Amino acid sequence: MKTLETITELSHEFGTEDYVKGGGGNTSCKNADTLWVKPSGTTLGGLKPETFVALDREKIDLLYATETPTDKQAREALVKEVMTNAMRPESSGRASVEAPLHNVFSATYVVHTHPALVNGMTCAQNGKATCARLFPEALWMDYVDAGYTLCMKAREEIKAFEDENGSEPSVIFLKNHGVFVAGDCSEDIEEAYAVIMNRLREEYKLAGVSTELSVAEIGDTSASEAELSEWIGSDAAEVKSSGVFEAAAGPITPDHIVYSKSVPLIGGLSKDAVESFKANNGYFPRVIVASDAVFAVGTSEKVAELALLLAQDGALVQQLAKAFGGIEFMTDDAREFIENWEVEAYRAKQMS
Ligand SMILES: [Zn+2]
Repeated sequence: MKTLETITELSHEFGTEDYVKGGGGNTSCKNADTLWVKPSGTTLGGLKPETFVALDREKIDLLYATETPTDKQAREALVKEVMTNAMRPESSGRASVEAPLHNVFSATYVVHTHPALVNGMTCAQNGKATCARLFPEALWMDYVDAGYTLCMKAREEIKAFEDENGSEPSVIFLKNHGVFVAGDCSEDIEEAYAVIMNRLREEYKLAGVSTELSVAEIGDTSASEAELSEWIGSDAAEVKSSGVFEAAAGPITPDHIVYSKSVPLIGGLSKDAVESFKANNGYFPRVIVASDAVFAVGTSEKVAELALLLAQDGALVQQLAKAFGGIEFMTDDAREFIENWEVEAYRAKQMS
């Protein structure tokens, strides 16, 4: 089918590290009855036409009318059930958690990504005002919990936008998260992304903020790596290290929490520091910032690699946000929702 081939090409085009890291981002295409969406926990770059999950759009629509429990975890369980029921029998895998939001758009193609250049704006103190100035044609959404809450709020705001402007938005910026781009052909999607990236690049240049993360030279870190493995145990079966960079001290976006944990251990590289971090946070640090290197640890090489990649991405976002008043971390409520969300645990596990 032509649309599935087109969305596969778009997924590869926007599945590079400039746009997403790890299993971040999601894409979809649709006709009147069916929505094909990226399976949760897969990478955009690895998608094939046959890996998309096919969902019955009428059954997804049921979600918008369903009365949901107020308890957040119970509500997400119900959403999962509605989404499982909406799967076409020939499909396997688990639909991306943002599938109900993809379904809200009437546009054929939706490409959702988390570019550092975009998050420099969406994670900044002055993000909203900057968005209104640079992208008056786009819709800005304040932070809401991902999944059900985001879908319902976006649905409401897309409708209001449509009433006011006569058509749905083709670009939605999500605070502390990323961007959704919708269009009826690949050229529309490519054009919209080009405008977004170029305008932002220009702004960073004007503000004198580099779009490259500065990373110091690294020396021999093998002794520290061995120590971290010894102190942390199986959670640090693999250790990756990088030259020092200015790691973000708090949670930037859901993806950063999923892959790098909400906060890094900054400062002392000692058994005591690692243990008091665990006592304070309930988990061992995934990212450790020492004076001569930054370490990322994991149960597998993949986990450690992604932790370092996202830590560097978060540091770049923090650097870019300086152009717009500085970084604004996620709130404690927002952070806790992601930390406890089963969907994200599933997603992280698929990438380990
Ligand atoms: Zn996302």
